[in-house]
Amino acid sequence: LIAAVDRALTDGRTTVLLVYPNKASRYDLAGLLRRQRFSVIEASAAGEALRLLDAGEAIDLIVTDSELDDMAGTALIAEIRSRQGEEATPVIGLSDDGDARLAARFLEAGGVDFIRKPFLEAEFSARVGQAAAMQKRLQALRRLAASDYLTNIYNRRHFFLTGPRLVEQCLRRGDSTSIAVLDIDHFKRLNDTYGHEIGDIVLKHVARRLKALVGEEHLLARLGGEEFGILFNGLNARRAYDFCERLRVELERSKIVADDEELTITISIGLATIEVTEAFDNYLHAADQFLYMAKHAGRNRVMSELALLDTLAS
Ligand code: GH3
Ligand code: MG
Ligand code: MG
Repeated sequence: LIAAVDRALTDGRTTVLLVYPNKASRYDLAGLLRRQRFSVIEASAAGEALRLLDAGEAIDLIVTDSELDDMAGTALIAEIRSRQGEEATPVIGLSDDGDARLAARFLEAGGVDFIRKPFLEAEFSARVGQAAAMQKRLQALRRLAASDYLTNIYNRRHFFLTGPRLVEQCLRRGDSTSIAVLDIDHFKRLNDTYGHEIGDIVLKHVARRLKALVGEEHLLARLGGEEFGILFNGLNARRAYDFCERLRVELERSKIVADDEELTITISIGLATIEVTEAFDNYLHAADQFLYMAKHAGRNRVMSELALLDTLAS
């Protein structure tokens, strides 16, 4: 019951990837796991398991035979770790090999637990249940550490932690990309006029709208105060500019209801293109400079290299 409540609290289903070569045993083990209310995905070999992980399948825990046909369990752990880094999916090993050193090697390689056969069903269920519960708590803590307490979107820390990897991915596939800094215009005045609480409601509203407009494809975060950052997943200068211009117009049109008042705001956006690998700070600094220009040019506008050239040409 405690495990069931825990699972309900930690949000939804737990998915276990079961990697086992022998079909009959795999069927039995999958049955045990399903009886514990896990969603089970089955694989017969390490290669298949890695393909499922690479495809982005949401897997919370892996239970694997310690000797697979194509790879040792310890090697599978190493592969998973090299792909997923610090947040690698936890792995439990199973073995009917009498060699006691196997368990030690498996745990040293980074496995979270090791169960030797034959085992009691209760032991198997308890060990898998505990590992799953631990992983769910860890995921909840990671979500908490990455999110902004007021707006619930990603925070500055998460933006700086995951931003460099996203840039690297874009550049590696040969795309240039862009970074934007958005800042609400005259927000201090809004706070002074309506009070800090209304200011907070406005911040939440802006974050919610931005999240809906930006979606999952790009990285959006509250960088601090009334400033938001967007790291685009491979949008070139022109498309990023158009995207930002649409955000600006959408937010300008958006009505914010707070305390029976209907408020409107405007935002200024600084947009910089990313074409080569540099320190992540530099990208943000470049976008900040364009933001500064946007403010100076009268606010409620997008400023970028492209916009600057357009202005000079006209
Ligand atoms: P500009 O158009 O030049 O951006 O002017 P501004 O007034 O928006 O700029 P400034 O950076 O001077 O003001 C930001 C204000 O945001 C100051 C601060 O009180 C307010 N602020 C920062 N964090 C929060 C918050 O969490 N809630 C509320 N309500 N206000 C905040
Ligand atoms: Mg500001
Ligand atoms: Mg501002």
